[in-house]
Amino acid sequence: MSTLYQHILSRRRFCLCCMGAATFAATGGWLTPSQSYAESRNLVDLIRDDAAKATIKVHKLRGNVSILEGSGGNIAVLPGDDGKVFIDAGITPSRPRILEAANGLSRDPITHLINTHWHFDHTDGNQWLNEEGAAILAHENTHKHLLTAQRVEDWDFNFPSSPLAAVPTEVFSSEKTLTLNRSTLALKYYGPAHTDSDISVTFHEADIIHCGDTYWNGIYPFIDYSTGGNIQGMITATERNLAVTTDQTIVIPGHGVPVSNRAELQAYRDMLVAIRDNVAKLKEQGRSLDEIIAAKPTAAFDAKWGQFVITPAMFTRLVYEGA
Ligand SMILES: [Zn+2]
Repeated sequence: MSTLYQHILSRRRFCLCCMGAATFAATGGWLTPSQSYAESRNLVDLIRDDAAKATIKVHKLRGNVSILEGSGGNIAVLPGDDGKVFIDAGITPSRPRILEAANGLSRDPITHLINTHWHFDHTDGNQWLNEEGAAILAHENTHKHLLTAQRVEDWDFNFPSSPLAAVPTEVFSSEKTLTLNRSTLALKYYGPAHTDSDISVTFHEADIIHCGDTYWNGIYPFIDYSTGGNIQGMITATERNLAVTTDQTIVIPGHGVPVSNRAELQAYRDMLVAIRDNVAKLKEQGRSLDEIIAAKPTAAFDAKWGQFVITPAMFTRLVYEGA
């Protein structure tokens, strides 16, 4: 078994974006209402239980920026005199291990949290980070989705509204620039992509970009149509990520191997475009979703990208929805 595959297997437990797909795969795609209720009730508990056991791996990048890997989406941390800045919050029961890892970087208090989008595996820790002293900043649609109950159709899951301490207190609509710890942080809204609330966070001097869940490194991505995501938007977001990076830029994906680069981002873009084109062509011919899945429009990419919980069939369905 390759190291990458082991890595993927060890991580699959912790990722909500993928749990719906796991449920989907295990049940052949559909659940009865009572099954789905039982599944849904267990889903978040299961992820939280797993997160309580997850180890947090620290990747030191440059310009004092590090990644904490192992609790939900990849978390970026920038310590300094202004206090630690967190990009995404992970899953709540990881709190002691995230704190331990963060304390290993510096003793600065945690003062700022930026959410890349509203999904649970990036915002579940909002409340405890706010209790630690972090002011929460996000796109206005993240604020909107956390403030009210949400249903994600493809996870077959209903999320209750978040406690007020977990809801961002500062929002923006298009872009925002912050200077913290002598670093320039540029926040930019993607428009509809993985959801309708995705932003990128660029550490200007360090030449590092956190792409949130617009970028899944080496694995098929989840796309949340229930809250405004679509395949075309994922491609547009990825092309924008390419436009603002060079071969020197460190690229942080929301999921997948956490330290990436422009060449890998380009391969991801090429994969998305090729599969979108294949599916669109079949759809234009009037083929049904089942026929299109059977035609395996992802086949050329499955060996590399289809080894995670978003299976080739699941990804085909997500692309079909918006192709
Ligand atoms: Zn997500």
